[in-house]
Amino acid sequence: MLIPYGRHHIDEDDVSSVTDILKSDWLTQGPAVPRFEQAISEYCKVKHSVAVNSATSALHIACKSLNLGVGDILWTSPISFVASANCGLYCGADVDFIDIDPISYNISIASLREKLSLAKKDNNLPKVIVVVHYAGQPCEMKEIFGLSQQFGFKIIEDASHAIGASYLGGMVGSCEFSDITVFSFHPVKIITSAEGGCAVTNSDELCNKMRMLRSHGIEYAQEAENKVMIDDEVWNYQQLDLGFNYRLSDLHAALGASQLKKINAWVDKRHSIANKYDEELSHLPIVTPKQSPNVRSSYHLYPIQVDASMCGTTQKNVYEFLRKNMIMVNIHYIPIYLHPFYRQLGFNRGHCKNAEEYFCKTLTLPIYSELSLDRQMFVIENLKRAINF
Ligand SMILES: *Cc1c(COP(=O)(O)O)cnc(C)c1O
Repeated sequence: MLIPYGRHHIDEDDVSSVTDILKSDWLTQGPAVPRFEQAISEYCKVKHSVAVNSATSALHIACKSLNLGVGDILWTSPISFVASANCGLYCGADVDFIDIDPISYNISIASLREKLSLAKKDNNLPKVIVVVHYAGQPCEMKEIFGLSQQFGFKIIEDASHAIGASYLGGMVGSCEFSDITVFSFHPVKIITSAEGGCAVTNSDELCNKMRMLRSHGIEYAQEAENKVMIDDEVWNYQQLDLGFNYRLSDLHAALGASQLKKINAWVDKRHSIANKYDEELSHLPIVTPKQSPNVRSSYHLYPIQVDASMCGTTQKNVYEFLRKNMIMVNIHYIPIYLHPFYRQLGFNRGHCKNAEEYFCKTLTLPIYSELSLDRQMFVIENLKRAINF
């Protein structure tokens, strides 16, 4: 009995939605992709959705559509998956990190404001900031949007954890306070298409650019505003930019669309699991995640903090004890700039103090829609044993 930290949930409707595609005329570039995109747009209340083969691809084309390139700067959170920063490097830009808030674990607005003021003096302001809704809890978007107006940067929301979450009553993905929002449909996330991702935006121009970039930079005649021409002849397609093959297949899109129908019940289930942890762990000497006012998390993760001075044992010991008992707790995340690849770019320890302190204490407990109460209690009992409580 192995308990992972996150896991997909597939039902018979999901299976038949995929087999229907297998028996149809289109395995890719058919009608299932625009149907999935339409469903995402309606769910998030956003104008355009561009489905791609991963959130990593979505982040890349999002950056490129905002013209991020050599000589530009991208900032993100160090407490995220490496893809949040790698997208800047793919574009030839420089990358830097904003320290986190020790309560929400999202980027600290105070640190961001201070870092922007310094960058303005030094004339090296970022072109793009990728904000990460860590664990599914939305960042303080109104404040970040205000700073973007003041300092002139673009905002990409990396909402890989946060489809189904809301901020001030609006769905994450509505892009009310950002240029583009990105989702991941990897199996550990809230809903899955096996592999897959999506970039959403209210901008016609950014949408058109991202659509082209996901398919080689090619414009097709049926989508073109002007005629597609090579010299004097009219043909059906032309390459206008250097793009990629980041398309999502119809098989994946059909699975994603079937999963999206169940999202609200699954986010509710994640809330009840999180509430149970909150309740059962409240009298233990560990720190449970705090919820900010005005947001509703999608609870992609349930991160706790194990402080050796409070628990009498270290994060590493608890991690190993739980894993020995088949509970696959995880660390989300190693600060991105502490990875060997980023160190070699010149980053060192001490760059973001709160992020490093968090990294030394955090563990993510299992949370997913099918986690049973029995298994959750098994996790809680073993956590108590790990800290001799
Ligand atoms: C999972 C994840 C990604 C990457 O998602 P893929 O779909 O696997 O490319 C990017 N950012 C964050 C914060 C993630 O958790």
